[in-house]
Amino acid sequence: MSDLTPASNHFKQQLLIKNLLFTPIAKNDEQEIVYKNNFRMSYKEFKKRVNKLANLLTKMGVKEGDTVAIMDYDSHRYLECYFAVPMIGAVLHMINIRLSHEQILYTIDHAQDDVLFINSDFIPIIEQIKGRIDTINNYVLIADENEDIKSKTIPFLGEYEELLKEQSDEFTFLDFDENTRATTFYTTGTTGMPKGVYFSHRQLVMHTLGSLITLSTHQNQGNFHQNDVYMPITPMFHVHAWGIPYMATFLGVKQVYPGKYIPDVLLDLIDREKVTFSHCVPTILHMLLNSPKVENINLSGWKVIIGGAALTKALTINALKKGIDIFTGYGMSETCPILSLAQLSQKDLEKDIETQADIRIKTGRPLALVELEIVDENMDKIPHDGESTGEIVVRSPWLTEGYLKDQKNSENLWHGGYLHTGDIAHCDESGFFKITDREKDIIKVGGEWISSLELEDIINQHQSVEEVAVIALLDEKWGERPLALVVLKDGDEKMVEKEILAHTKEFIKKGIMARESMLLKIHFVDSIDKTSVGKINKKKLREKYKNL
Ligand code: AMP
Repeated sequence: MSDLTPASNHFKQQLLIKNLLFTPIAKNDEQEIVYKNNFRMSYKEFKKRVNKLANLLTKMGVKEGDTVAIMDYDSHRYLECYFAVPMIGAVLHMINIRLSHEQILYTIDHAQDDVLFINSDFIPIIEQIKGRIDTINNYVLIADENEDIKSKTIPFLGEYEELLKEQSDEFTFLDFDENTRATTFYTTGTTGMPKGVYFSHRQLVMHTLGSLITLSTHQNQGNFHQNDVYMPITPMFHVHAWGIPYMATFLGVKQVYPGKYIPDVLLDLIDREKVTFSHCVPTILHMLLNSPKVENINLSGWKVIIGGAALTKALTINALKKGIDIFTGYGMSETCPILSLAQLSQKDLEKDIETQADIRIKTGRPLALVELEIVDENMDKIPHDGESTGEIVVRSPWLTEGYLKDQKNSENLWHGGYLHTGDIAHCDESGFFKITDREKDIIKVGGEWISSLELEDIINQHQSVEEVAVIALLDEKWGERPLALVVLKDGDEKMVEKEILAHTKEFIKKGIMARESMLLKIHFVDSIDKTSVGKINKKKLREKYKNL
């Protein structure tokens, strides 16, 4: 027998999501999980409810490899699905409720959803597309208390709470391969339908560990520990709310789920529940800090990771003046998501607000176990001199293996053995990255993508339009908004503008374009800059019109 032959009874422990729930660190049974003003429970109760949900799913016939979809606002029910669904070996599909109806239909069909948990607010969407959904066998209604909900077309199995009540609170979760798929969701790309990304149990556990280790390295800034009170303000459908509900549960911290994002409700919850740790896109924080209510609330000590879009210096200074510990996080749907954080050293914390803000708005340093690089088009590494820019490419244990059922785009994503982010950045000698531009031809409005190519397509349909280019225009409130540069063939500018906006509205109404397209701004120009090979030079256009 070789020295390396394992004992015949050695147990090869798999990295499974259930290990995050049953860890002794989280043995904090009396700790609370809160949902708006509606519901509070202890961790002890939460674990029982996860067991009940597992029983319900099993009774519905859900088995390993099946897909369970959910459309809900941020809630304790969503958290229960984050655990129970993958823990029985099924895949959780977090439907992006902001997609157009057609895109939602496409993702349900593409992911082959078997079950749909649906908040009553989204019934009208599903009623519109129900006739074309082929895969779903069971619909479960999610309703807040006292709601009397009826649907003519959706044959609900029952209401979530009522169905849970009937289940046993005991369940034995079996072991399986840690590489089993746990979650899936869709990211909207440059053109065409959304692309599915997917993550395994092992990847989610590694992401939880890598992120938590990094968040525990700083004593006085940007850390996450057991005395924190956590509230997400990034939707739970968006990349597992940055994976932080898994981290919070693993640590056993008090968690607050705010339901639909209404600025005054969010501020009330922060105040009442003494929230100390959150994350959101810049637009949401901008909205909160501009609410009249904010004046009466002490936000000092509230730690907020800002990601999904670049954090501006003005917003950072505004937040710092209110005592908020604001700092950048960076990642993408394809990366689980967190890749880097802009945490400050003790020395940096002694600097004035302006200097601190310059560090806090950087893209940050890679997390533990993340290898970030900047490369040129030949995949040659670019020096970390704080000036030279290149595309960010990445390797880490928690990146999607590719796009679901899409070999061609998967190969492009992983070209050269690194995952390509499409983000352009430089990196300084201390290892801080800073995104300066984007290769991807898309616009991020309040954290959600809009395809510039699709908007160009709509605008081009107007008979007076000779040529159009849609680019991202920086915007204090929305982060970015779409700007259409239009060359006219003929006609009156004011009239054409009105007609294009009305035409865009039609597409939004039909559920073909995202609602954020309403923020389209139109600017008439004599010509549109091109590259040497005659393509529209969007990089140049972004620079040229940045002050519009
Ligand atoms: P998503 O897949 O929707 O999460 O979008 C990911 C993309 O959002 C990244 O590739 C970046 O283009 C952008 N993004 C995310 N975080 C940041 C950040 N901190 N600063 C600048 N851009 C960001």
